[in-house]
Amino acid sequence: MTLDNIVEEINKAKNIVILTHENPDGDAIGSSLAMYNALKQIGKDVDVIIPEYPKTFDFLPNSKEILKEGKNYNYDLAIALDCGDIKRLNGFAKYFEDANVKISIDHHSSNTMFADYNFVNPTSPACAQILVIVLEALGIEIDKSIGTCLLTGIITDTGGFKYQGVTAETFEFVAGLLNRGVNVSSVYKKVLQVLSKPRFELTRIAMNRLEFLEDGKITFTYLNKEDEEKVGAGNNDYDGIVEMGRDVEGVEISIFLRETDDGYKISLRSNEYVNVADICLMFGGGGHVRAAGGSINLTFEQAKTKIIEECKKHLK
Ligand code: 5GP
Ligand code: MN
Repeated sequence: MTLDNIVEEINKAKNIVILTHENPDGDAIGSSLAMYNALKQIGKDVDVIIPEYPKTFDFLPNSKEILKEGKNYNYDLAIALDCGDIKRLNGFAKYFEDANVKISIDHHSSNTMFADYNFVNPTSPACAQILVIVLEALGIEIDKSIGTCLLTGIITDTGGFKYQGVTAETFEFVAGLLNRGVNVSSVYKKVLQVLSKPRFELTRIAMNRLEFLEDGKITFTYLNKEDEEKVGAGNNDYDGIVEMGRDVEGVEISIFLRETDDGYKISLRSNEYVNVADICLMFGGGGHVRAAGGSINLTFEQAKTKIIEECKKHLK
């Protein structure tokens, strides 16, 4: 069984590197730091590499130990967390490829099974929830620090326990954390409720531009670099914008385009029936059935037309 192999490889390895996807979100950072803190607990020599991440997550235990570069040797073991595709490890795929053994623990439906051992469960609402099982199998005690990191992953990827995919285990786990003194309400507020000022301003700009198409079944909005400069945006200050369109009554697909160095980053969300991971596969991306992303290297008008045309094909 993959889980047994993973336990065996982790127990065997002396030095381990933890990696996650680019533009890391709460599940990526929470899962990575949970694994980092857990492996430290069992005495491993472990590095966690995340080049950039939002300041929101600075409160997570041991976030100061996150590295921007790895060590100059081949690690015994590399663990990729919350990452469906080796391309999304970005420039850091080299630490993964050079490691003697490679493990991936993930919940993306489009996962390409790029590791030696792939522990992938697309029905899990967060990678952090899969880690609960892995850490238990390793005999690691989920203390307050590890619990806070895992909780952050679960809260952010479930939109605060509201998305499909939340299970009884989700609540059982959170109940256990409450018993161990984790302040669930405070974590919730920090990672989901409080917006940085630039994030609020970007949301305001994108909301003003939001268009309803196809009888209100599709929403479209966008941000360009000028907007981000104007408000002094930091990492991921555009998070949550795509969800605004999705949450309007009658909408099936919400589209958000964000200008990047090479074209536009696409974010899609759906409500009832459209598989947006499938749509994003056409744009070199992927994700989950109801939340996915990709990229497109065209002018703004061309990109907008192309993505709307593609989404229209999937409407009932
Ligand atoms: P977001 O719209 O928040 O950037 O991403 C939604 C989901 O799709 C996340 O789970 C994210 O990991 C995934 N995703 C976003 N962009 C890409 C991409 O370019 N490739 C793949 N494989 N997944 C992506
Ligand atoms: Mn995730």
